[in-house]
Amino acid sequence: MDFIDFSRLCERIEGISGRLEMIDIVSRAIPPLSEEELPVFVRFLMGRIFPDWSPLKAGIGPNLLFEAVAYVAGKKKGEVIDEINRVGDAGIAIEHLLSSKEQTSFFSSPLDLLEVFRDFEYLARIEGTRTQREKLKVIRKLFADAQPLEGRYIARLLLGELRIGMGEGNVRDAIAKGFGVDADLVEHAHQLTNDLGEVALLAKIGPDALRNVFIEPFRPVKMMLAQQGTIEEMMSDHGKIAAEFKYDGSRFQFHKKGDKCRIYSRKLEDVTNALPDIVQQLSGATDHDVILDGEALAVRDGRTLPFQYVLRRFRRKHDIDAHMEQIEMIPMVFDLLYLDGKTLLDEPLHARRTLLEKTIRGHIAPQVTSGDLDAVESFYRTALEKGHEGIMVKALDSLYTPGVRGRQWVKIKPAVDTMDLAVVGAEWGEGRRAGLFGSFLLACQYQGELLPVGKVATGFSDEMLAEIYSLLKDSVIAHSGKEVTFEPGAVFEVGYAEIQKSPNYRSGFALRFPRFIRLRDDKSVDEIETLEQVKERFKKRITPA
Ligand code: AMP
Repeated sequence: MDFIDFSRLCERIEGISGRLEMIDIVSRAIPPLSEEELPVFVRFLMGRIFPDWSPLKAGIGPNLLFEAVAYVAGKKKGEVIDEINRVGDAGIAIEHLLSSKEQTSFFSSPLDLLEVFRDFEYLARIEGTRTQREKLKVIRKLFADAQPLEGRYIARLLLGELRIGMGEGNVRDAIAKGFGVDADLVEHAHQLTNDLGEVALLAKIGPDALRNVFIEPFRPVKMMLAQQGTIEEMMSDHGKIAAEFKYDGSRFQFHKKGDKCRIYSRKLEDVTNALPDIVQQLSGATDHDVILDGEALAVRDGRTLPFQYVLRRFRRKHDIDAHMEQIEMIPMVFDLLYLDGKTLLDEPLHARRTLLEKTIRGHIAPQVTSGDLDAVESFYRTALEKGHEGIMVKALDSLYTPGVRGRQWVKIKPAVDTMDLAVVGAEWGEGRRAGLFGSFLLACQYQGELLPVGKVATGFSDEMLAEIYSLLKDSVIAHSGKEVTFEPGAVFEVGYAEIQKSPNYRSGFALRFPRFIRLRDDKSVDEIETLEQVKERFKKRITPA
C-alpha cells in the first residue's frame, strides 16, 4: 500500500463523524492488504506504531520533529512553531509547510506504508551517542520524500496522536466486518494478545485461529479493571463475595519463565530495571512459571508511603540503588493469570486464588470471602483505619477479563467525585509559580479524540508543580501567548464539585471547582474518562433542592 493511499484514507475518515461509516470504510480497506501490511495498517489507524507491550518506541520529541520539518521546508524552527500556533494543529501546519517545499524538491518515488514503518522501527532502535543526530537524519529524509498530506500523518504518528477517531472499538468492529468473523471473538483474541495488528492477521486466517490464542510470558496483557459500586449491590448480585484491601500503590504484572523475569507497569511498560527489589522478592517466592497480577507499595519503617513515592520508583531509570535505600518496595499479589504453560484467564477467581496460594510463598494480598454484609463492612472500616484507599469487592466466579472495567470487580472507597483526565495544555504560572506551568487544560476522550472539559489550577503543592514541569516541559508542541499545548501523555486525577453544560469547551461540558488530586502516570491516555462517562455523571448529578 502506498503511504499516500493510507493518508487519503485517514483524511476521509477524519472528515466523517458517524462510527458505522468509519467502520465500513476501514472494513473494505483491510481484506486486500498483504500479511506484512495488515498489522502495520491496523496499528497506524489507531495512531500507534508498535503493539502496546512492545519495548520499541519511536522516541521522537516535538523538538526534533519541528527541527526536521524546518530543515526540509527551508524555514527556521521558530517559524515552524509559529505556523503550528497559528493553525492550532501540528499535523495540518506541517502539511502547509511541506507544500511550500514541494515546488522546489525533485521528483522522488512514492512512499510505501511498510517503508515508513521500517523507518519508524529504525528510529526506535537507534542507540548510542549519535542518537539525536542520526534520528534527525532519518526524519528529515522522511519529510523530504513525503507529499504534504503524508507529512500531516507522519507527524501525527510520530507525535502519538492521529486524531481520526479510530479507537480500539472501531478497529475491532472493522476487522470483524472485513473478514466476516464475530466481533466477540476478535475482542477475546485482542484481550489475550493485546495487539489488534496481530489479531487482524488471525482474523484473516479465520475464526479458529482467533479461538486458539493463548497468553504467554513476556507479552503483558491489559489489567482487569474495576467499576465503582457498593458492597450491598455486589452481595445482592453475587451472594458470597471476595474482598481485599484496595492498596494505594501502582499496579504491576510479573512474568517469570525459568530464570527469566520481567515486570510490567499498568501501561504495560517494562519496568524491570526500575524495580529490582520487587523482582527479587517475587522470583524468590516461586519455582513455577507464572504471570502474577498485583500492586506495588512503597514502605518506610513499616508504614506505607503515599502513591507519589511509588510512581517515582516506577519512573526511575538511573541511580536505582541510591533510591532504593530510601524507598523500599513490596509486592501485594492478588491474582494468577498463567501457571506452567496454562492460561488461567477463563478459570473463576476462587480457582485462580486457590492455585495462587499453592504457587507462591508469601506476598499474597489477604482476602476475606463472605456473604455477610456486616463482616464485609467491618473489613472496609479496617481498611480505612489502616490507611488504605478502601476495598475491592470481587465476584468469586468472575473470569479474568483483561482491559475490561466491568462489574465483576468493584472498588469501594469514600465518596469523592474524581475523574482521570488527559493534560492537553497549560498556562504559564505567575508570581511564585513563574517559570512553571500554573494551570492545566484537561480533556476527556471521545472516539480517539481528546475534548477539553476544564482547567485545574488548585490542589498543587510547589513540589508537585516542579515535578509536573519537569515531566511535561519536553512535551510542548505549541505556544500561544501564555498558553502551551502538550503532546498528550500525562493523566491527572482531579476532584470536582459539579459538572455543567458549557459551550466553552469542545466536550460541551465543564467541571466546576476542579482540584488536582494526583498525577496518574501509571495510566495512559486511552484509559481516561470518556465523553459518554462524563455525560452519565452529568445525568446523575445531584440537583440542589
Ligand atoms: P482505579 O485506579 O481507581 O480504577 O482502581 C483500580 C486499581 O486499584 C487497580 O488498577 C489496582 O492498581 C488497584 N488495586 C489496589 N488493590 C487492589 C486489589 N486488591 N485488587 C485489584 N486492584 C487493586
